[in-house]
Amino acid sequence: MRTLLRLKRVMPEVRWTMWQNRSWSNSSIQRLESNSSIHKHLISKITATGPISVAEYMREALTNPVAGYYVKNDMLGAGGDFITSPEISQIFGELLGVWCISEWMAAGKSNTFQLVELGPGRGSLASDILRVFSQLKTVLGETDISVHLVEVSPKLSQFQAECLTVDNTQPNDGDQPVYRSGTTRTGLPIYWYRRIEDIPRGFSVFLAHEFFDAIPVHKFQRTEKGWREVMVDIDPESPEKLRFVVSHSPTLASSILIQKDENRQHVEVCPEGGVIVQKLTNQIAEDGGAALIVDYGHDGTKTDTFRGFKGHQLHNVLEAPGMADLTADVDFSYLRKMTGNEVTCLGPITQRSFLKNMGIDSRLQVRMTTLMSVCSLQKHSEFPKENPPLCIFAFPLSDTQYSVHGADDLNQVC
Ligand code: SAH
Repeated sequence: MRTLLRLKRVMPEVRWTMWQNRSWSNSSIQRLESNSSIHKHLISKITATGPISVAEYMREALTNPVAGYYVKNDMLGAGGDFITSPEISQIFGELLGVWCISEWMAAGKSNTFQLVELGPGRGSLASDILRVFSQLKTVLGETDISVHLVEVSPKLSQFQAECLTVDNTQPNDGDQPVYRSGTTRTGLPIYWYRRIEDIPRGFSVFLAHEFFDAIPVHKFQRTEKGWREVMVDIDPESPEKLRFVVSHSPTLASSILIQKDENRQHVEVCPEGGVIVQKLTNQIAEDGGAALIVDYGHDGTKTDTFRGFKGHQLHNVLEAPGMADLTADVDFSYLRKMTGNEVTCLGPITQRSFLKNMGIDSRLQVRMTTLMSVCSLQKHSEFPKENPPLCIFAFPLSDTQYSVHGADDLNQVC
């Protein structure tokens, strides 16, 4: 149960109201906390300049270049903090591989085809997709295919290189946009970038699986005086601890990020996610392509979803920053708004429906062979209705369309 406490604390220039969303106590977490260099860094920063936004807190905890959670950890899998669908079953990636090819076909079989994945984790999803591409060589023909990965973590990019290439690749020198490059096990050129802005132009199919939930959110609380931003501050009673407070005056973010027709009491907004979607939208509108966004999410209905995970358990977001995963559900209605009218958005639908539409049941039942996949792509119109092909054109798109699909039951399917 979440509570809103209105305990006032006066600071030299700005006043803040304490905002508490969950109560935690765990001595092992305190031990972790004393080891967290980000915790110390944030305490110094807040002491010097005052409370920081939740977005800034999340950005530091997850992607601080020295000690950020994603930068220095391998968090995926049974020994890590959370597990994702591509890590559970190869069928997930295989179906997405078929989806990519069906989008490319529906868009007129462009001569070039960039497969772009945002936040590829250990590279398992890309690996399963590339296996499908290799098996469907006859369908793809002479198409000039390349693979582009946007990854902030040097450590994870190393795992991805080990998973996807034969020679592991070598990082490039300096701060070049392409910080690593090589050739995939299936013989395709592959490139790593830190920022989506650096992806080359051209027909692209973008995939983002559990990526947007890691992009920082601002949190806002409706108050008697209007919308106010929730910030992170030092607990005056325990200077080593952090706590949430509500700003007493509007911040720049609270002035510009709340929609006029907003009727919730508490909202989370991810402007950086909006900018990324705008970039995808522009590229798809101009060069053709599609995007599939799969994440825990909602359609503009949920309120307080910011949470932490450590060792597969819920974890207090304000303790041991940099040592636990922080995540917020993706607001698909916001992302859709950010696309404007440039492209068509479909969904969100549950991951269960998407995978069912893609034929996961028959895939599971008969473990369809590679050959069958080729047949289904080439001859899908010949399949009788009661025996649907593996390749289901659930979302046939033209070359200027864009699809957004959410999933609220992510781990129930695979
Ligand atoms: N897609 C994978 C991994 C999900 S974890 C899977 O489903 O298994 C989130 C991934 O996004 C990690 O690879 C992380 O390093 C990356 N990431 C997080 N924030 C990022 C950012 N701002 N820019 C680029 N990559 C980021």
